[in-house]
Amino acid sequence: MNKGDIKMKILKLTPPTKDYIWGGTRLSKEYGILSFEDRQAEAWMLSCHEAGHCVIENGPFKGRTLSDVLSAEGKGYLGKNCERFESFPILIKLIDALDNLSVQVHPDDAYALENEGEYGKTEAWYIVDCDEDAEIIYGFKKDIDGDTFRKSIEENTLLEYVNRVKVKKGDIFFIEAGTLHAICKGILLAEVQQNSNTTYRVYDYGRLQNGKPRELHIEKALDVTSTKAIDASGKPQGETEKKDGYSETLLTSCDLFTVKRLDVEERAKLCADESSFVSLVALEGNGVVMYADSCVTLYKGDSLFVPAGLGEFEILGEVTVLETRV
Ligand code: ZN
Repeated sequence: MNKGDIKMKILKLTPPTKDYIWGGTRLSKEYGILSFEDRQAEAWMLSCHEAGHCVIENGPFKGRTLSDVLSAEGKGYLGKNCERFESFPILIKLIDALDNLSVQVHPDDAYALENEGEYGKTEAWYIVDCDEDAEIIYGFKKDIDGDTFRKSIEENTLLEYVNRVKVKKGDIFFIEAGTLHAICKGILLAEVQQNSNTTYRVYDYGRLQNGKPRELHIEKALDVTSTKAIDASGKPQGETEKKDGYSETLLTSCDLFTVKRLDVEERAKLCADESSFVSLVALEGNGVVMYADSCVTLYKGDSLFVPAGLGEFEILGEVTVLETRV
């Protein structure tokens, strides 16, 4: 298999799943995600992270991990915008929170590279579905100082200071490294994030796992958390634009990733140029992707990796897709 081949193939990925204690069962029941666990808290829809690799389920690379194929074939498939990263730059997850996740914070690149040997984590959450009163924790209600933050952790009063934001389907939240955050129960979301697993847990609702509380990382969290108040609207960054056969909404864009929602009603003509690969995750409905002389199905819960430089491709059907490019 030479390097030219992968550029011509759209890869369908089987995501690894995680059965964390707070997870539900919707990812397998409603999104068709294969899992042998009783619970699926997370499905890593696009992942080359060592803690969970996607496996290719179609074509000549079937059965191999995405990361294995990408490293064997060279870096051209990732696109020019990825050249500045040493490793695969992003990780995309579907997360089903039946219960509250711990309140946590991630370091930025500078701190993480120095202290953890990997990149920091900026992330974005797209609310795919949620209960009526669902909310997230997103930073602080008002500015507090470091001492107050420390005391609130030690005295178990942190929740009095955090900013609780009610969410609805279609909301998007950009969570810059250093922002305190938590997904609360009753939310199913898509997370696009830097490819990092460094998390500092600050508060865990006093829960026990195997009879013991999970470890907190208070000193590191104090080092990296921004204690300024923030404001969150959940509104996409761009307006919805009507295109030929579909509409497109820019959800969020930063120097790490650009995420759009494509609501395909009939067809969407798209292109993977040399700048970046394209990740497609189907959130609702069913479609098929046609390109060159091939096609691949894109059903709710499916994840496709379109290599940079593949050129034009077309989604046909009625399907809502999260499109991510670097
Ligand atoms: Zn996080």
